[in-house]
Amino acid sequence: MTVRTIVKLGAPILRRQAAPVDLNSLKTANIESLLKDLVATMIEAQGIGLAAPQVGVSLQVAIINGQTGPFAIINPRIIKRSRQTEVAEEGCLSIPGVFGLVRRPARVTVSYYDQDHQLRTRAAVGLLARVFQHEIDHLNGILFIDKVERITHGRLA
Ligand SMILES: [Zn+2]
Repeated sequence: MTVRTIVKLGAPILRRQAAPVDLNSLKTANIESLLKDLVATMIEAQGIGLAAPQVGVSLQVAIINGQTGPFAIINPRIIKRSRQTEVAEEGCLSIPGVFGLVRRPARVTVSYYDQDHQLRTRAAVGLLARVFQHEIDHLNGILFIDKVERITHGRLA
C-alpha cells in the first residue's frame, strides 16, 4: 500500500473524462493496488472520498469513506436524483484550503461495481449522497468550484 501524491487544481487530468474500467481487468494487480493506494492516500489526507484522477489515474474509480469504512465505486452511474436539493459546505483534497457552499440533490441512487466486482445499487441521503456526487463529478472532470454558490473559506488563486 502506497500513499500517492494528490494532484492539485490546475492539473489537466482533473478536467478529463475518466475512462471506464474494463471489468475483465478488475482482478488485475493494477486495479487492486490502485484501490489499496486510494484508501491509504485518502486516510492519510483525512478525506471522506478520493477519486482516481486525483492521484493521476484517469479511470472511473473512487473510494468513499462510509459509516462502515472505505468502499470502492467502479464505473459508477447516478441513476436517480431527488428533485429536492440541499446546500452544504464542501472542500476537495485537490483544492486545499478552499471551502464553499454547493447545492446538490438531497438523495441519489447510484449503481456501481464494488471491489469484489459485484454490481450494486445504493440509495444515499445526506453526507453520503453528497460524497457520491462529488466523487462521481471528479470522474467527469467536474470540480465543486464549478458548482459553488459561495466560497466560505480560502480563495481561488
Ligand atoms: Zn474532490
